[in-house]
Amino acid sequence: MKNIQSLHSHTNRSDGTLSPMELLAAARRVGVAAIAFTDHDSVMHEESVRELRKADLGGTNWISGIEISSGLPKELGGGAYSALHIVGLFVDPTNIDLVNHCQNAQEARIVRMQKMVKNLQNLGFTITEDDCLKASGGEAVGRPHIVEALGYYPQNEGVTNDIRERMRTDAQNDAVIAQKYELILQKGELQAPYGLYMTEDSYISDVYVEYQYWTNLERSVELVRNAGGLAVIAHYSTARNKVSLDMVEKYLKEGTIDGVETVYGLYAFGKSDWNDIQSDRLKLRELANKYSRIESGGSDAHTAEDLEAFAKSGWYADETDGFAKKIIKQTRISTEWSSFS
Ligand SMILES: [Zn+2]
Ligand SMILES: [Zn+2]
Repeated sequence: MKNIQSLHSHTNRSDGTLSPMELLAAARRVGVAAIAFTDHDSVMHEESVRELRKADLGGTNWISGIEISSGLPKELGGGAYSALHIVGLFVDPTNIDLVNHCQNAQEARIVRMQKMVKNLQNLGFTITEDDCLKASGGEAVGRPHIVEALGYYPQNEGVTNDIRERMRTDAQNDAVIAQKYELILQKGELQAPYGLYMTEDSYISDVYVEYQYWTNLERSVELVRNAGGLAVIAHYSTARNKVSLDMVEKYLKEGTIDGVETVYGLYAFGKSDWNDIQSDRLKLRELANKYSRIESGGSDAHTAEDLEAFAKSGWYADETDGFAKKIIKQTRISTEWSSFS
């Protein structure tokens, strides 16, 4: 039996549903042998660490981690790009710079949400800041939560339909708008708010507010390393449009990053993106090995059900066999902020 591990998972410290203790219990139940808590711009509570240190783990190990929504590499301008995610493993959750980073990121998310809520209200939508916080569970609030909050009020459908109608009319005299309108029809109803008004590229582009705080790739990695951890690029599929594989190769070669996730994308399995993900994963594995950098990854679970689906996935989960021990052996990283010894 394989020693399957999820070195990328979320708790209620960000957008997951379970506490670290509950997630660990779930891991134990479904046979996941190691779990890293990697919440969005959020480190573990000291209280959780204390609890875990006392708990009977029943053979399932844990690792303190983080997932930083990073800006771009310096050579690409270092600017905001929330789709480049850096997972830190074995980080000291009491490290002051890392704690400050998390606070800055969380505060900036709230300011950004408040600005977008105001813009939506000006457009005629019914929505409040509290609705968005409720949708987000209070932390790491982002656009999906704002869209969810819009759904709390049936009258917002009418506002959306009015905007859609205006766009349809404009599309008759403007080829660029026509193209964007076509795309909205293709992507379907759930994605429509993004095409109509939720991005910088939407038909209505002034609702969108840019990220208010971010760290470039180099700084994100530095934050993780100064907290005693290892930094890997998470789910490359979301970053591939901006950061080429050649660039990733350079970062691995030069040690700008410590490694890459090579197990990611379970949700995309069998869907249209899977072929790209599969070929990227193979290439990333080859590169990590070529430059003796680490391989990581796992479920990216947000719920017990996600973790169970991962555990049952067969060959996919099997690819994480013994990940943590390999990483520890390869890098001699301090295991202080984990249950490994
Ligand atoms: Zn992510
Ligand atoms: Zn994640």
